[in-house]
Amino acid sequence: MSETSLPAAPVPDIRRLVVPTPFPVGPVNCYVLLGSPLVLVDTGPSTPSAREALERGLAGLGLGFPDIEAIWLTHPHIDHYGLADEVARLSGAPVVAHAEAVPRLAGKLHQGKAGEKEALEGLLVQAGAPEAFGRDLLRQWASTDRLAATVKADKTLEDGDLVTGGGVVWRAISTPGHSPGSLCYYDPGSRCLLSGDHLLPHISSNAIMEFTEAGPGAGAAPRLVRVRSLEIYIRALRKIEALDVREVFPGHGEPFTGHRELIARRMRHYERRKDAIAKVLREKGPSTAFGLARALFPKQDQSIGQFLALSEVLGHLDLLETDGRVECRHGEGDRRSDTFSDRRS
Ligand SMILES: [Zn+2]
Repeated sequence: MSETSLPAAPVPDIRRLVVPTPFPVGPVNCYVLLGSPLVLVDTGPSTPSAREALERGLAGLGLGFPDIEAIWLTHPHIDHYGLADEVARLSGAPVVAHAEAVPRLAGKLHQGKAGEKEALEGLLVQAGAPEAFGRDLLRQWASTDRLAATVKADKTLEDGDLVTGGGVVWRAISTPGHSPGSLCYYDPGSRCLLSGDHLLPHISSNAIMEFTEAGPGAGAAPRLVRVRSLEIYIRALRKIEALDVREVFPGHGEPFTGHRELIARRMRHYERRKDAIAKVLREKGPSTAFGLARALFPKQDQSIGQFLALSEVLGHLDLLETDGRVECRHGEGDRRSDTFSDRRS
């Protein structure tokens, strides 16, 4: 008796275009899903060299901007979506993104939500950052705004939604943490995963400080509070770990296999960083989050780098608090900042 076999699932024809960015992370990956509809996943930032690289990459596939039939965005960070508006105009293709990404795509960096600037300033005081730090940070951010045009999403996706690209049906997987509105696209047939910055081969993805609405504020803007980005990120990482994945196509770096090993490595990295923070608190005594960021990342001398270090520390302090290893005293530091201490010292 002959064995019956199911027809093989179609394998998407995924082509990687490497596009330069002016950021320390280096170039960004955009992917073309050949087939119907022809999809461009992420676009790179809005710089002449990125646009040129994208155009050249498409030409290498015998394509031009008008051939793009849909633009899928992985997350609303400017190295990934800066050119999306221009590509949408040149191609007429709809822009697809997670619903939570929409305010970010429509606004400037860190001005996506009303009241966010004030919330950030309040949080920096709470974290023990010097007064000039917030001003400097906002100035540096404002200077990166020109690297992205605002863009309107024509179609939004939620977790579990199905979307066809390159001849196969992909499942949208909501993976917040690195950025609100972060999406991975997963094809269960070929077990390919377009991971955006949620899972990167060479660096651990920063769970960047984020705010959410927590009721009405003093004025017209709602009151915003910081969310526990790293805990949210790790939950989303576990979601990806549970998937059967053959190959990951990340937002930066080379495509790779072995996503579960990589996630296990990332989890060990979080444990080590938690230990490093607890050690600083034991050896040097109570500290603010900003003080810890300076102690752990002394080489960061630019405000954006220091902000990312602070995000990293706050995320791990959340984990340490959940573990019961660290205690927070509110408003006890200089300028009424929060101080953290190791419970065992
Ligand atoms: Zn990125």
